[in-house]
Formats: sequence, structure tokens, C-alpha cells
Amino acid sequence: MKKHIKILKKKLRTFDPKIKEECGIFGISNAKDASALTALGLHALQHRGQEGCGIVTFDGKQYFSEKRFGLVGDNFNKEKVLNNLKGDYAIGHNRYSTTGENTLRNIQPFFADTNAGGIGVAHNGNLTNSISLRKKLVEDGAIFYTTSDTETIVQLIAKSKRVKTIDKVVDAIFQIQGGYALVMLTQTSLIGVRDPFGIRPLVIGKLKNSYVLASETCALDIIGAKFIREVDNGEIVLIENDKLQSIKPFPQKKVRPCVFEYIYFARPDSILDNKTAYEHRKNLGLELAKESDVDADIIVPVPDSGNAAALGFAQYLGKNFELGLIRNHYVGRTFIEPSQKIRSLGVKLKLNANKSTIKNKKIILIDDSLVRGTTSHKIVKMLYDAGAKEVHVKIACPEIKYPDFYGVDTPTKKELLAANKTNDEICNYIGAKSLKFLSLNGMYRAIGFDKRNENYPQLTDHYFTGDYPVKPIDELGDNKVTQLSLLSSASNN
Ligand code: AMP
Repeated sequence: MKKHIKILKKKLRTFDPKIKEECGIFGISNAKDASALTALGLHALQHRGQEGCGIVTFDGKQYFSEKRFGLVGDNFNKEKVLNNLKGDYAIGHNRYSTTGENTLRNIQPFFADTNAGGIGVAHNGNLTNSISLRKKLVEDGAIFYTTSDTETIVQLIAKSKRVKTIDKVVDAIFQIQGGYALVMLTQTSLIGVRDPFGIRPLVIGKLKNSYVLASETCALDIIGAKFIREVDNGEIVLIENDKLQSIKPFPQKKVRPCVFEYIYFARPDSILDNKTAYEHRKNLGLELAKESDVDADIIVPVPDSGNAAALGFAQYLGKNFELGLIRNHYVGRTFIEPSQKIRSLGVKLKLNANKSTIKNKKIILIDDSLVRGTTSHKIVKMLYDAGAKEVHVKIACPEIKYPDFYGVDTPTKKELLAANKTNDEICNYIGAKSLKFLSLNGMYRAIGFDKRNENYPQLTDHYFTGDYPVKPIDELGDNKVTQLSLLSSASNN
């Protein structure tokens, strides 16, 4: 019996239907080289997911689809592949997942035939009620092909009794909850959707007569498209030929984008709320410097995640910024490794101490965030082994105490270091001389409004506060049963 439970638990981990995906999405209308432009856009969004990528196009008669494991540049680099993706309309997706099935069937965009015609869907984010919805759909006879929550959206669209595709989409969107940005390709339009709080990002660009939708503005820059605006929270944009129509079906809510886009995800050159992520991160470093009470010889970033914050920190204090750690750029993010053991190895694979700059130095080491503590633990040791006199760790965001349910890969509360240990205990664990996190107020001062502003909190900041704008209803006990039934359907495929 015990053995069976062990196997079941292992399988549950492997087939966890709540795959946490960060992902990058892209869509373009009315463009001659739609598939090539989509490949370029996805390439610019590669930092959002490296596990798999896919493009779906429509040529006025037929849909075309290519999905591959790995990087965009390794898969969509041949004319033959791109020429097979015919049509002037395209959507694309970069996939990131840490746990869950790594199979081709989970790579997006997904495609479905409905009674109003075909539809392709690419999704960034996580639904908080997908298990409950999936349970109902399965009870009603739906057959699921993947273990991704995105398929729930596709099934809801297909099942809608409305006549027009856009109405079917609205119907489906009303039923889902969580953090999501979607791009969809119908037979007559490109559609973009952003969740009611605008937790996950989506921007609109223009390239001649084409509209472009993308997770970040860096994907507009690469193809020379002009940034028009963000898709509003709760907005659906319907793009037909060179016309864009805005539909706002939800009761208006206050926009609360995910704070982690500012801290970590977005590429530094992408624009978030009128400033680049780089400027926001330098400001986070500046606020951290204002709160700092330790002196040091040099300021060292954890590359690349701590670069901008460390620069802001060093510039504010007039201290020397040094590259005390050198990064091997040919290794993916350490987080991508599925097990804790491999993950700790990953830090060593990725970074090495730059001995000449750190020997006998009192160092302030800066990173954007501390999650499980794996990175800091390894790096502090690396710096001491290379002869550092003192290593003081400063983190450019507050303590992460609460997990995420909207598409960011954070572990469970049990694995979040700051949820379980005091500052001294964490400092002890990572082996630093001192440890300091940026205060919540400092973070808000850096990114925008502080507590006195009527819009406070203008960000989805549950990582630090436990304030979840959308309650994660799938966490309720009842749904565990559904996970088990999903497990058997998934493993039978
Ligand atoms: P940890 O080593 O577990 O403390 O994680 C912190 C490191 O992972 C930092 O260097 C961050 O830049 C990076 N990081 C933080 N959040 C994420 C995430 N959701 N996905 C990938 N990497 C992350």
C-alpha cells in the first residue's frame, strides 16, 4: 500500500495539471511574412520560456502549425519551416514549465475546430479555477488531450452556444479566473485578452498595416513595430485587417500587474508602465541603498538578475561596481532544472568567481530576489572560497513568503525560505555576514506609488503580503480528487 501511495505521489508530481508557466506570447495580423515575424518576436521573448515553442498561422483557407522542443532560434531558423507556415496571420508561444509533463502535446499554441470555425490559442499565465472547470467539462463529456490549463479555455470556447467566435471567446473568458494573457487566431481575426486585474502582461504594437500583440515591448522592437499601448486590464482587443476594436465585458477593476515582471521577468529593455524594466530595477537598487547600513569596498551583482539593482545601489552610494562573478551564457536559468539537486549544480555551471576583483574585499552582493536560497547559498560560498573578506547580501525586493497561483514559478510555501525562517536563520543558511531585504515601502517607492497614494497597492504583490487579488479556488480539498482522475487520463494517453 505504502509503495502504491509513493508511486501515486510521484506520478501526481509528474502529471501535475497545474503546470506553472511563465511563457511568452506573440501575434500578428495582416503581414506578409507573418510566420518569420512571429519567430523573431518569440526569439525576443525567449527569456520567458525555453522549453518549447510553437507557431500557428492561417492563410484564409487553412491553419498551419509547428511545435518544437527547445529554443526558437534552433527551431524556426530555416526558410522551409517558415514557408510551411503560410498566411498573413500568426500567433506564437514560448513555453516555460518547471514541473509537469514535458511533452509535445503541452506545447502551444493549441488549436480547436468549433462550429464557428477553427481557433488557435496561446496563453501566458495560470488559471486558478481550471481544475474545477475541467472537472465539470469532463463530467459533460469533454475529452482532454493535454494536461495544460490552456486547454480548458479552448474547450470552453468550443462548447459555447454563442454563434460568433468573438462571442464564444467572451463566454469562455467570463468563466475563467486567474492571471492570463491570451492571443488567439480565428479565421477572420487576431484576438488579444488580458485578465481583469492585468496580472499578466500584453502590449499592442503597429507595423505598417499590421497590428502586433506581445508579452513585452522588446518583441515589438525586434521587428521594428511601434509600441502603441498596453492591452488594458479586462480588455479584449479584436483585430480584423487593419482595424482594432476594444471590448470591455467585465465590470471595471483596478489594474494590478504582477510585481515580478518589474523585479525579474521582463527583459530589461521592455517598457512597463512608461519606464523600462531596467530603470525600475535601478530604482529598486537605489531604494535598497537608502536602507543600507553596511559599508563595503565593492558592489557585486548576481549576473544578470541583480545587474540593474546593483548599478542603482552603487551609483547612489558612489561605490565601485565590480563584476565579481562571471556568467556562462550558454546555460539556461537555474530555475529550469527540475530537481533541487540539479538546481544547485546549475548555479555552479552558470557562474564563477572573478578572483582578482574580490580577493580580500568587503563585498555587498546584490540579487533581485531570494526564493529557495539556492543561488545565494552557492554564490556566497564561491566568493569566500575565492578570498572575499566579508560578503553582505542585499536583495532588491522584500521577503517572498507566499506562493504564486497566476503563472509565476514559485515553489510551495514549504520551500520558500523566507516563509519558514527568520532573517538571521536565512543569513546563517546562505553563509553571509549580513542579509537585508528591501522593505515593501521601499519597493513601492522604487516602482511607483507608496502607501499614501489612493491607488496603493497598484501591483499584484501577494509574494510579500499574501494579498491575492484572485482567490485560488483550485486549492480547495475537493479538487484533489479531480487531480487523481486527471492523473489516470493523462497516464493512459
Ligand atoms: P533561489 O536560488 O531559489 O533563491 O532563487 C533566486 C534566484 O532565482 C534569483 O537569482 C532570481 O533572479 C531567480 N528567480 C527568482 N524568481 C524566479 C522565477 N520565478 N523563475 C526563474 N528564476 C527566478
